[in-house]
Amino acid sequence: MNDPIDLIRRQVSDLHQELVRYQLVVWTAGNVSARVPGEDLMVIKPSGVSYDELTPEAMIVCDLDGKVVEGAHSPSSDTAAHAYVYRHLPEVGGVVHTHSTYACAWAARGEAVPCVLTAMADEFGAEIPVGPFALIGDDSIGRGIVDTLRDHRSPAVLMKSHGVFTVGKDAKAAVKAAVMCEDVARTVHISRQLGEPLPIAQAHIDALNHRYQHVYGQQSAAR
Ligand SMILES: [Zn+2]
Repeated sequence: MNDPIDLIRRQVSDLHQELVRYQLVVWTAGNVSARVPGEDLMVIKPSGVSYDELTPEAMIVCDLDGKVVEGAHSPSSDTAAHAYVYRHLPEVGGVVHTHSTYACAWAARGEAVPCVLTAMADEFGAEIPVGPFALIGDDSIGRGIVDTLRDHRSPAVLMKSHGVFTVGKDAKAAVKAAVMCEDVARTVHISRQLGEPLPIAQAHIDALNHRYQHVYGQQSAAR
């Protein structure tokens, strides 16, 4: 297991269990991918395989056009979207997609989650934005993700009427963003039932985000 691709296969396989643990997925809907550092390759979940049956060996290695390089199964049906993100955002090392419940409830209304909690300012530094409605089958979803996140602090986008895509410096950071996205979507939804959540001043959002991203925690493991 010294081959860098084998390490990434294990990491991507293991991170799918985090989607299950945090209840972000049902059946086989949801996927994690990681860029292979220094190569034009990515590792992604196979299509239609249950989370219980995922192993490092079952992961699919694709090029950044989404073509299979190694693997016995077809890659995730969302592979084209992941590949588009890696081609256009070179700083991104991991991508996650889920249909997590509360985030999808916002996506179904096409409404951004407002930044009304300090934990949101920390992790997202802004509202969680909405991306365009896009059908699977070409580059529309990938383009929608990239166009929405390219100049946005948030590592998460709610694709309209669909679900969540998150990005990170690696796959673990993208999984963390997916977990936090669902958490804040749930809390702000609940808050809404009782009234209008109070906005946080932009200067405070900026200060919180800067501190969390640059000062807080173990620097090497902060995101
Ligand atoms: Zn989806």
